Amino acid sequence: MLPMNWQRTILIAFLSGHPPQKIKPMQSHSRRNFIQTAALGAATAASVPLTAADSKQPAKTSRTIETDVLVCGAGCAGTAAALAASRAGARTLLVEKAPFAGGIITSVGLPYFDGIAHISTKRVVVRGIALELLAKSGVCSPDAVTLPKHNPTIPNTFEFKLLLDRLILEQKPRLEVLFNSFACDATTRDGCVETVTIANKDGLVRVKPRIVIDCSGDADVAAWAGAPFEQNTEVQPLTLHFRINNVTPEPSLTLACRSALQAAQERGELPFYYGPGVMFLFGKNEVYVHGVRVPADPTNAADLSRAEMQGRADAHAMFRAWKKDVPAFKDAYFMEAYPWIGVRESRRIIGQHILTEEDLMTSRRFDDAIATGCWYLDLHPNKTVSGSANDFDPKKVQPEPYDIPYRSLVPQGLSNMLVAGRCHSATRGAHASTRVTATAMAMGEAAGMAAAISIKTKTPIPSLKGALVREQLQAQGSGPFTEAQG
Ligand SMILES: Cc1cc2nc3c(=O)[nH]c(=O)nc-3n(C[C@H](O)[C@H](O)[C@H](O)COP(=O)(O)OP(=O)(O)OC[C@H]3O[C@@H](n4cnc5c(N)ncnc54)[C@H](O)[C@@H]3O)c2cc1C
Repeated sequence: MLPMNWQRTILIAFLSGHPPQKIKPMQSHSRRNFIQTAALGAATAASVPLTAADSKQPAKTSRTIETDVLVCGAGCAGTAAALAASRAGARTLLVEKAPFAGGIITSVGLPYFDGIAHISTKRVVVRGIALELLAKSGVCSPDAVTLPKHNPTIPNTFEFKLLLDRLILEQKPRLEVLFNSFACDATTRDGCVETVTIANKDGLVRVKPRIVIDCSGDADVAAWAGAPFEQNTEVQPLTLHFRINNVTPEPSLTLACRSALQAAQERGELPFYYGPGVMFLFGKNEVYVHGVRVPADPTNAADLSRAEMQGRADAHAMFRAWKKDVPAFKDAYFMEAYPWIGVRESRRIIGQHILTEEDLMTSRRFDDAIATGCWYLDLHPNKTVSGSANDFDPKKVQPEPYDIPYRSLVPQGLSNMLVAGRCHSATRGAHASTRVTATAMAMGEAAGMAAAISIKTKTPIPSLKGALVREQLQAQGSGPFTEAQG
């Protein structure tokens, strides 16, 4: 039998179609003075000391807000984290760069709740807030044990914004939200995040939290606070989703769309694409399209801006190709592209435990399990793949339901920070599974509960027992459901 790290290397090479990639060294933020704590390639769960250095003087700010829990990013993980923390009694501030909550679901228009149910049995493995949101969107009953589909979709992404508004407002005054607010800096003292600066219409606002939960997807705040992280030099491609109306449904539509894209690419009109997924998800003449594929570095502002423009150009190039070559699109019009291009992968913090592909593929059980994942290792390549999104057989990398440990939400070197969602601590291969929406919500809910317990019991985040977090989650019908109950 091969040693575990060899198995992992081979699995990653298999998934990506390339030899294992180099990882970018841990980036030290140009505005920070913190001491770089570890070289990334060598980082191990136990080897990184607390960040000792304190960062520079805070920027000039217009006002200061004190709160128990600050959640940065109101996406899948962040909304669940803020609801969980405030429902458990913690005074919580939620900040989000968009004018609404929902993250990928509302700003990139992705209606899927993947990871909520086991692929073959359709048994629900994520309950709690994720199931609540699905039920309140009218898709299932609140106590569903199985679902008709393992990958359900919500019917309307605008109504999802309204639902989240309502749930956030229900928690007032314990939960406050600031939209159009970008978390842009953090200062630390003795390994503790002291302030997080947000930029919004009030100017620069200083937040003094007792606990910070980074749900930005990109680990922005964790990185700026000096937490060790890794990011591959080549990450999964970015995708802009868009919708086209007045399309005539017909059985061979997908094949016709695929041929038209091949022809457009041969004419030099489309650098890359995948699939395409052309789906009548929201209306009978309206297609929702995922097929844009833009390689980019999402943590580089200039490259992200280039990717946004490339995504729009590619979406419209696809529309023009279909108008030209596919009769079903004769009277079609381009309805909308969602405001943001979607980011699948960027920074992953190095936490107390780095979740691995072996952990997933062997369904390793953890004493501090706080959530369950079950999606396949869904790694998109940076190249055109016609007829599919991946260039491998997903069935070969389909785990059974697996545990996600509390320690993979706890960054090294900081005593009052948690992360949840896309930026938690996992290898690239494991993250390809844990990154999906319902799994991110489960992590967010656990992080929110952990923050509230930490405040109540005055226990630093790294010393908090994951088993206690799980106990509290289970008391309210949430937490891991890795094994079938009853
Ligand atoms: C194109 C695409 C297609 C996908 N397809 C699927 C699919 O079919 N099924 C599935 O389940 N998953 C899919 N995923 C994966 C999944 O949607 C995400 O990984 C998941 O949303 C992760 O949740 P999150 O909360 O970490 O991130 P998000 O839901 O993206 O939330 C992050 C939030 O943080 C905010 N934010 C970021 N930085 C800051 C900052 N500095 N200050 C303030 N706010 C900030 C963002 O605006 C956002 O609202 C897809 C992802 C992409 C990009």
